[in-house]
Amino acid sequence: MAVAVGYQDKTDDQKAITEMVRQFVDKEILPTAEEYDHEDKFPEPIVEQMKELGLFGVTIPEEHGGMGLDLTTYAMIVEELSRGWISISGVVNTHFIGSYLLMKFGTDEQKEKYLPKMATGEIRGAFSLSEPEVGSDVQGIKSTAKEVDGGWEINGQKMWVTNGLRSGLVFVLVKTDPKADPPYKGMTCFICEKEPGESEVPGLTIPPKIKKMGYKGVESTELVFDGFKVSDDHILGGRDGVGEGFRQMMDALELGRVNVAARGVGLAQRSLELALRYSQERKTFGKPIAQHQAITFKLAEMGTRVEAARLLTMKAARMKDAGERSDIEAGMAKLFASEAAKENAEEALRIHGGYGYSKEYEIERIYRDAPLLLIGEGTSEIQKMVIGKKLLQRHKI
Ligand SMILES: Cc1cc2nc3c(=O)[nH]c(=O)nc-3n(C[C@H](O)[C@H](O)[C@H](O)COP(=O)(O)OP(=O)(O)OC[C@H]3O[C@@H](n4cnc5c(N)ncnc54)[C@H](O)[C@@H]3O)c2cc1C
Repeated sequence: MAVAVGYQDKTDDQKAITEMVRQFVDKEILPTAEEYDHEDKFPEPIVEQMKELGLFGVTIPEEHGGMGLDLTTYAMIVEELSRGWISISGVVNTHFIGSYLLMKFGTDEQKEKYLPKMATGEIRGAFSLSEPEVGSDVQGIKSTAKEVDGGWEINGQKMWVTNGLRSGLVFVLVKTDPKADPPYKGMTCFICEKEPGESEVPGLTIPPKIKKMGYKGVESTELVFDGFKVSDDHILGGRDGVGEGFRQMMDALELGRVNVAARGVGLAQRSLELALRYSQERKTFGKPIAQHQAITFKLAEMGTRVEAARLLTMKAARMKDAGERSDIEAGMAKLFASEAAKENAEEALRIHGGYGYSKEYEIERIYRDAPLLLIGEGTSEIQKMVIGKKLLQRHKI
């Protein structure tokens, strides 16, 4: 059941690509997501088909083998994928952030070396800021890279790296000058190459995946660096990139927030679809539960949240595409859409009554998946801090 609203102004190309992705989701993802989720299994066949569809190169320029599409179109695609299963968008999400970092800050050599293989999905990207003791307060990271003969040596422990095992490139933020004041000036992003699927490479150990409540299938891992060697060529942006890592990563996170917002829209949308269907099928007191005003009102609120979340997401994406400053808008979209996903998932679960609590029903999975969006790429509390601070800056009296 398609209940798409807010897209009246899609271009013909956007209509064509989102329709193609929707059909792919309906045919390949929705019928199998529960099985992968219950077994916490990586959806290899789906990922292979996504490579064939070119979905790993959506935003990579055509000259490097990608589709060269904008963030707005990408956000529409992410919404569709997440409507099917959030973990599928998780496989693409960190890859997209990695390719953005390369496109915006990489040297010509780095772009030529990595982007064509990223566009086909031959190598996939991950990004790594978080550590066991640090998530929100990024400047507090402890991992370091020190200059040694012939390059750099990375040491430290990273946490929660999505696609940590299967990725071939990890964009890792570390301190190259731990004494820098303020700390962000001493941070650098390294492009760490590794063999996908290998848990032991010289200087790097990847422990078994972290067991999670939802967001199954796609792995989240620690990365333990112990003398991992890289050359200057692996500094994002080359030698000039030393000390620039924090700024680069924060720029990418702004984009990542639009991406997470789009995932929220997808989950909120799917929750609405499931609630609309179930509430017209299930009868109590002689009529479909959708006819009880308490349920009709829930549906009305859910539909309104989907529409508002989508409009905020599209606004932030379009502003970013137009090169306008969009930190407030990206934060608002991420905050609203992730909360909308969580609220719609809960309301849809309630509408399903006891069956919502059963693993036989899709909403049970969505209910476990949705809370991730409140945490990743900056928690709701952090979004409010950013939005509030920026509003005050923009409207200083
Ligand atoms: C499944 C999953 C996948 C992830 N994938 C990645 C990834 O690929 N790469 C990566 O680098 N990271 C990843 N993360 C990490 C994620 O970005 C962090 O978990 C997130 O930034 C929050 O950090 P934290 O968990 O350390 O919480 P903390 O920073 O310890 O925060 C704990 C609580 O305190 C609140 N809080 C913190 N500071 C303030 C403040 N100043 N004011 C008010 N409240 C505050 C937070 O909102 C939160 O509620 C992932 C996490 C998960 C769960």
